[in-house]
Amino acid sequence: MFFLVRDPCGIVCIILTYLAVFYADYVIVKWVILQTMQNSLWGSFHMVMFNTVAFLAAMAHFRAMCSDPGTVPLPHSRMDFSDIHTDCNGGSEQEDWTVCTRCETYRPPRAHHCRICKRCIRRMDHHCPWINNCVGEKNQKYFLQFLVYVALLVLYAIALVMASWMEECPDCPIDIAVKQSRILHTVLVLVESLLFGLFVAAMLIDQLQAIFGDETAVEQAQELGPYRPHKPRMALLTEVCGRTHPLLWLLPCDTSTSRKSYQNDSGALLTHEV
Ligand SMILES: [Zn+2]
Ligand SMILES: [Zn+2]
Repeated sequence: MFFLVRDPCGIVCIILTYLAVFYADYVIVKWVILQTMQNSLWGSFHMVMFNTVAFLAAMAHFRAMCSDPGTVPLPHSRMDFSDIHTDCNGGSEQEDWTVCTRCETYRPPRAHHCRICKRCIRRMDHHCPWINNCVGEKNQKYFLQFLVYVALLVLYAIALVMASWMEECPDCPIDIAVKQSRILHTVLVLVESLLFGLFVAAMLIDQLQAIFGDETAVEQAQELGPYRPHKPRMALLTEVCGRTHPLLWLLPCDTSTSRKSYQNDSGALLTHEV
């Protein structure tokens, strides 16, 4: 299913994200690899590797942006909640299912309402404008992959720029204008890499803390406390990335086969046991 949140701020952010990745790729290929490693096999190697990581980052971003993060289906007809005294953020007296007064539906445990998506999202972590989508149960894996690939891309870009600055280059063009352009572009890409690197590292630490602490950012903000039984770290990662071989967790495609789903095709409210 193709999923797109209509939020102008989010759409600007995703355009900026793609522009930043394309610019870094352009500078590394045109001004670093093709200028300083043109006649070496390392040039071809870095060209393939850097573009592969950039492609994987773009794929992971696309999947995180266009996947359903785990929206709770809306009921077909209006529901009567007159006998339930609860609000959108509160808990119901019946088990762990709660009621969202904005969606006017019941929602499973750990689902929260997102004001930007205007829907309740299962195990919502936060709404991320950089993917113009919520980070929730079904797309957190792609969000994590995006962070990991951008971190790799940043480190790779910094290493290639540094190497191009430090090594004497017999093949480099001696034209002063070309040399100046190369320095300008590489400085810009270095600044961009440092900014993105710091941002992505902070997000990655945040995400791993949330996964290993078994508490989403929304739950941390609400100070609900860790109320679930303790689980091993591998089990918590498996919940997010799927029950496949850990190496497959790095692929930005749907590799999980046994994830629990509460949504049926008709979009009707389901009362699965949880
Ligand atoms: Zn809701
Ligand atoms: Zn959202």
